[in-house]
Amino acid sequence: MIRLPAIAIVHGLRAFLQRSVRENLFVLMIMVIASGSLALVGGQIYFAWLSDRAAADRERLMVEEGLATLVEETAWTTTSVALWDDAVGNLDNALNLEWADENVSEFLYRTLGFEAALILDRADQPIYGMRAGERSRTEDLLQFLPPAQPLIEQVRAAERRRGSLRDVLRNSRSVSKPIFRSSLVEADGRIVLMTAALIQPDFGRSLPDTERSAIILATSPVDRSFVSMIEKRFLLKNASLSPGAPGLEKGFSRAVVRNLLGEPVAVLDWTRTHVARDAFVRSLPIMLTLISFFLVLSITLYRRARRLYDSLVASEARAAHLAFHDALTGLANRTLFSRRLGEALSESRRDGRAFALHCIDLDKFKSINDSYGHPVGDDVIRSAAQLLSSACRNSDTLARLGGDEFAIIQRDVTPESAGALAERVVGLLSEPFHLSVGSLSIGGSVGVTVVHEQAVDAEECLRQADLALYRAKEAGRGRYAFFAPAMDASVRARHLLQADLRRAIAFNQLDLHYQPQVDDRGRITGLEAFVRWDHPELGPQPPSSFVKIADECGLSDHLGMYVFRKVFAESRRWAHLTVSVNVSGVQLKRKDFADRLIDLAHEFDVRPASFEIEIPEGVLFGADPHIHATLRSIRAAGFRITLDNFGAGYSSLTNLQRYPVDKIKIDRSIISNLGSDYETTGVISAMIRLAGAVGLTVMAEGVETPLQRSLLLAAGCLHAQGFLFGKPSTADDTEKLCAAGSKPAVIRVA
Ligand code: GH3
Ligand code: MG
Repeated sequence: MIRLPAIAIVHGLRAFLQRSVRENLFVLMIMVIASGSLALVGGQIYFAWLSDRAAADRERLMVEEGLATLVEETAWTTTSVALWDDAVGNLDNALNLEWADENVSEFLYRTLGFEAALILDRADQPIYGMRAGERSRTEDLLQFLPPAQPLIEQVRAAERRRGSLRDVLRNSRSVSKPIFRSSLVEADGRIVLMTAALIQPDFGRSLPDTERSAIILATSPVDRSFVSMIEKRFLLKNASLSPGAPGLEKGFSRAVVRNLLGEPVAVLDWTRTHVARDAFVRSLPIMLTLISFFLVLSITLYRRARRLYDSLVASEARAAHLAFHDALTGLANRTLFSRRLGEALSESRRDGRAFALHCIDLDKFKSINDSYGHPVGDDVIRSAAQLLSSACRNSDTLARLGGDEFAIIQRDVTPESAGALAERVVGLLSEPFHLSVGSLSIGGSVGVTVVHEQAVDAEECLRQADLALYRAKEAGRGRYAFFAPAMDASVRARHLLQADLRRAIAFNQLDLHYQPQVDDRGRITGLEAFVRWDHPELGPQPPSSFVKIADECGLSDHLGMYVFRKVFAESRRWAHLTVSVNVSGVQLKRKDFADRLIDLAHEFDVRPASFEIEIPEGVLFGADPHIHATLRSIRAAGFRITLDNFGAGYSSLTNLQRYPVDKIKIDRSIISNLGSDYETTGVISAMIRLAGAVGLTVMAEGVETPLQRSLLLAAGCLHAQGFLFGKPSTADDTEKLCAAGSKPAVIRVA
């Protein structure tokens, strides 16, 4: 239990992070690029600094080493005087001043560039001096002696290590190793290069008298030209040599100049070079351009990816929406509906709350499609969806189950509230629909089942609501019905009847009855065929009922063709008469109807002209172009077309010209008023005159009295059918009737 809040916190945190990462992806990406760029530039700067520092250290060492070499090189030049047989004789064993003037002062000053020199005797006492190439008093040069002491001592030490010159020359033809020490020292208040060189013979033609020899001490100024030489040799800039150790200026490198004892004497400063830094600075524009390029590229790619991601999310949402919603109306589809129905059932089982399932179906919707086309049909479905939405609460689920069928799951209901919603739905659907083609009255029927803690599943709920809907339709449409268990029995009975009908058609158990049609003189000119079904257990079935059953279970085409087969076969018994056969809209809608009928006529070898096809008004005036084409085809084959029940609906005679019709049959509802209603007589007369004018034959059906007959004759209607001339009877009776004569017995109907 204690762990639960922790889990909730972890979940919450993860969700927050996921959300914030997604939302701040752009900022995050910019931050990554910026920090990457900074790290790159910073790294470059750091590495440039490191390499510049290493280079400066290397340079300093090189300069220090180089300075020492330079000092030694300069000192080496003095050996051309010090390592010389003549120097031993003229400067050591004896001092020849003229010789010294010429070969020491002149040479050291003019040739080698030394500014001052002293010759020290074997006891290191100055015996000769030179300044600026001229002999000078040794007293004037004594300031050079103290700084020269370490040099002199080292030269003396080397002299001792060398040993006797005689020994050296015994082993070698000459003295090849000069002995000298040099160093930069501070003397006379400035830095000078000082060299102490031991006078030695080179080939031994003259040897010193004692073990110790004289020393030449020479100083060379460290002036601007010396520093320039250093600059040139080591490629330095702004080099300067200063005594002591003054503070180092920023941007300068420094080499410490030490004397022979390793003590700092001076410093050499020069402008520090920053090769790596300069290279970095030079490469900076390119680097920045590259970074900007990658930044722009990343932003562009990010934007693209973002758009792609957004469109993927949107299409995923669209797909998810489409998976659960109907594309035409946007309502929940069957899948979502099934889920909601399952939820409502579990809820009802769990807490005992009742819900109602309403199945709603538009009435005669097919005729809208037929008359106005599918786009208008779609508009009707959309408008119906809107109306139904307005009737629902938020807690209800409204779905389109398919075609013109909708369903509502109404939560928390009582039978009264369920009835109220069903009534409201019926009321809304019965209002005219305002569409692009004008106002249309549609109407709808509703079947309701209320589910309350019953052990029913979703399938059963739907079945009950469907059954109730069927009942509402059957009861005349434009109404609602509640499911009642008794409906099950009637449906079962209906299913049995459907199976029986199927069997009856298959086993030729249906009969045809024929009703005579007469002319003005009472002669039989034709027959109308009626199909009859004498059920083995239930007895004779009314045609209106089993024709409807055939329609419901998809048998109408079988039944229709069955009738034609039988009519064609039996027509041989009255070949001189015309036989009318009723055909429904469902039959005519089949694309192959005309071909099959014509083939059948060939098969039975009958003349199509001997048959009339009776069609209901609605079929003719529907907008289905396919039906008109079918009618034209069968008419072209020789069959004649009769419009049944004329006058009961909305047909106008003047319109009839446009349709493939040969004859009209005035409906029995009009004929029944004949004689009792004066206006009807007038209407019929006008109808007959008009029909004649447009070339149509007129027949009256349902003629039952002689008065009706005479009024019809008086009005010009020569053809009639009705109980007055004969009820529909079996083929045998009809054959007898036809054989008995052209005048049938008048049957009086009570
Ligand atoms: P009833 O009163 O018995 O319901 O008669 P009905 O003509 O309405 O018959 P039914 O409900 O069986 O027919 C529904 C018709 O709806 C069948 C089909 O042609 C049509 N339909 C199905 N889906 C669509 C659609 O998406 N758009 C359009 N315009 N029509 C559709
Ligand atoms: Mg319908």
